[in-house]
Amino acid sequence: MRQFQQEGLIYYKFDSFDDDALDHAIFSRKGGSSKGPYASLNLGGTNGDDPSAVLANHKKLFKVFGRPYSSRFDVWQVHGKTILFSEAPRPPERKHPPADGIFTDKPEVTLIMRFADCVPLLFHDPARKVVGIVHAGWQGTLLCIGAEAVSAIHQRYGSLASDLRVGLGPSICGKCYQVGQEVRQQFLKAWGAEADQFFATRGSGLYLDLWGANEYVLRQAGVQQIENSGFCSAENLDAWYSYRKEKGITGRFAVVIALK
Ligand SMILES: [Zn+2]
Repeated sequence: MRQFQQEGLIYYKFDSFDDDALDHAIFSRKGGSSKGPYASLNLGGTNGDDPSAVLANHKKLFKVFGRPYSSRFDVWQVHGKTILFSEAPRPPERKHPPADGIFTDKPEVTLIMRFADCVPLLFHDPARKVVGIVHAGWQGTLLCIGAEAVSAIHQRYGSLASDLRVGLGPSICGKCYQVGQEVRQQFLKAWGAEADQFFATRGSGLYLDLWGANEYVLRQAGVQQIENSGFCSAENLDAWYSYRKEKGITGRFAVVIALK
């Protein structure tokens, strides 16, 4: 990934994404107004942080991103597999609709999602001019939300999997993500024996490779161009929030994407 710094904010862009066609950024936790476990660029509004600091963080992020705050479209992320299409920014008075994938073909919309260990999947279809973000924790991964998104944008926009560029953003890696046997059992039930390649046993612990599992889901759906940031949220607490490593008391970093 490429790293940028502006007004104290540090953000990253995928090498494979075309800056002439879209704006995108994955903002690290640095440079914001939040304190304590939320320090400092926390964009999550329901995790116990001071709402005025969260609002200041949003405003600063959008200023650095170079698009109006009023252009945002965001959702209530619920670990499901619902994909929504945005035709316009979300009016501030309207509640966040529940969803874990958001897409748009409208340049006036800025898509934003929040993360702390779950895998951000950023999508660009240069042929149909569509962008999107998907939120894939273990539950979304189990539900193959990456493939769900590929299918949904094919139906909505005519996007072809072979045209898509997908980036996997910072999230918890397979060395750090310890899970219970019940998670493996659910994967085996849903995916069959193929699921076992994404689980590893070390000592008494069972670990799940969310990166590998999501790449597998995307490739099975026909996606060929995939870039993985390789940043582990749990191993880099100076840059990213980790729900697991920080035992649930932490912030959310932002992933932002928009068409030019
Ligand atoms: Zn790790």
